[in-house]
Amino acid sequence: QEVNAPANEDVKAPPLAGTNVMNVILVAAECAPWSKTGGLGDVAGALPKALARRGHRVMVVAPFYGIYAEPQNTGIRKRYKVDGQDMEVTYFQAYIDNVDYVFIESPIFRNIENNIYGGNRMDILKRMVLFCKAAVEVPWHVPCGGVCYGDGNLVFIANDWHTALLPVYLKAYYRDNGLMKYTRSVLVIHNIAHQFHVMLFVSHIPGYSLDLMFLLLNCPHLHCTQGRGPVDDFSYVDLPPHYLDLFRMFDPVGGEHFNIFAAGLKTADRIVTVSHGYAWELKTSEGGWGLHGIINENDWKVKGIVNGIDAKDWNPQLDAHLKSDGYTNYSLETFRSGKPQCKAALQKELGLLVRDDIPLIGFIGRLDHQKGVDLIAEAVPWMMGQDVQLVMLGTGRPDLEQMLRQIECQHHDKIRGWVGFSVKTAHRITAGADILLMPSRFEPCGLNQLYAMAYGTIPVVHAVGGLRDTVQPFDPYSESGLGWTFGKAEAGQLIHALGNCLYTYREYKNSWEGLQRRGMMQDLSWDNAAHHYEEVLVAAKYQWSDAKAPLWL
Ligand code: ADP
Repeated sequence: QEVNAPANEDVKAPPLAGTNVMNVILVAAECAPWSKTGGLGDVAGALPKALARRGHRVMVVAPFYGIYAEPQNTGIRKRYKVDGQDMEVTYFQAYIDNVDYVFIESPIFRNIENNIYGGNRMDILKRMVLFCKAAVEVPWHVPCGGVCYGDGNLVFIANDWHTALLPVYLKAYYRDNGLMKYTRSVLVIHNIAHQFHVMLFVSHIPGYSLDLMFLLLNCPHLHCTQGRGPVDDFSYVDLPPHYLDLFRMFDPVGGEHFNIFAAGLKTADRIVTVSHGYAWELKTSEGGWGLHGIINENDWKVKGIVNGIDAKDWNPQLDAHLKSDGYTNYSLETFRSGKPQCKAALQKELGLLVRDDIPLIGFIGRLDHQKGVDLIAEAVPWMMGQDVQLVMLGTGRPDLEQMLRQIECQHHDKIRGWVGFSVKTAHRITAGADILLMPSRFEPCGLNQLYAMAYGTIPVVHAVGGLRDTVQPFDPYSESGLGWTFGKAEAGQLIHALGNCLYTYREYKNSWEGLQRRGMMQDLSWDNAAHHYEEVLVAAKYQWSDAKAPLWL
């Protein structure tokens, strides 16, 4: 690989206010509000702003999928080799809320905004190779506020397998050649299972097993295999031969194969994942999806940090989606009247009976095996024997979408099953519902339970990953806790927890209000999470340095 090293070796960032003030570049395949399929988009939209508020110079690099209003064409073009072919990219740029946004434009990113992880294995791989190659050199080529970031005091934050090649390229093309000597990389695991869309798809087939999953995963012609494939795929990532071992993986059924995430995890200076619970689960064979061995070997550099929530977007006091159609903004002081008003507006908007005394239960999320929406469907006959309303919003697996439509059809007076992706409706359900269900089979962090608590909506969750970390179970004796949890992803357990929750809703108004208050009073902000990220960034900075790390590391 020829690198586009700057002619002037001295592309240095301007003097920084303190030794630990960093240049941070977060690189992600999606970034809200421009592109979002789930939590990763939210994180890429919010964490950078929080780091900027803490005084760091922060940039986000994302692909340019659609036509975006804010970013301007910088006129800067570079060529990178992908599968032996020169591909040109153009860098676009915007500066919003003290964060620099750089978008990478190329024909291979165009017109896929509704299916950004779609296509066959080679299409996806080529997109990610180009994206990572073009992202590593952004600090050299794209002046922000007139000055390039340069490569001093610089840390890249790569996210999920899509950008796991970035730490590898940083090492192979640059650091191994004496370039970007003071640049570090952190790789964040948002959801290790996103590599396994095949598994998530086949997991509802009777007779499904891990063996079947591995067999399918290693079928080289399979579409939607994400960052994995036969060992020959190594030739597409364009690295020196001695790098092959970083990518080589073995499992008993599928045999030897190639995995980008494996190489990224081994090469990154630090690994972050989105909760302590998930950090622990990743080290087990069930939770690590074949990568648990690598995560255990690199345990010393792994840290769990629970995501925050965007204090502007997801704040009942400011929420833009609650300003019309009978909804209202509310706060800790006004939620006793504000929340019922939102509930009535939601019932009206969805054509449900407008009644304040009936518990309104919500669900928002991707419709797949992970989110456990099938467990809610199993619990519907029981729920319909209760005096409740149920609203579900989601998109995903066609059979689960059909299931949502069907249960709405069967119980039209009490259930709405909204198939679609609607940010406005997600906000309105979060505000108008009394209870939010999250029966996820696994959940790295989970954002909806955090949003729910900030809006005084009580979560009922499977105690797993980030859900276990963030929803402390209600204890009626000490009047403590934030919601209801259950230990196994089974409909019977969901029913039991929801039954207790409904009983409290109906019989113990003060306890209910206490739950709402405690949820709303928490500091769930990104400022808190950003502080923990900062510790990781600074630790990475001192990793290979003779300088002494601060005492708190
Ligand atoms: P994941 O990243 O696993 O999908 P998270 O709970 O971390 O789950 O984040 C999901 C994000 O996507 C939340 O902001 C949620 O509100 C949003 N979301 C999921 N499904 C929908 C939908 N159908 N319509 C609108 N927003 C959705």
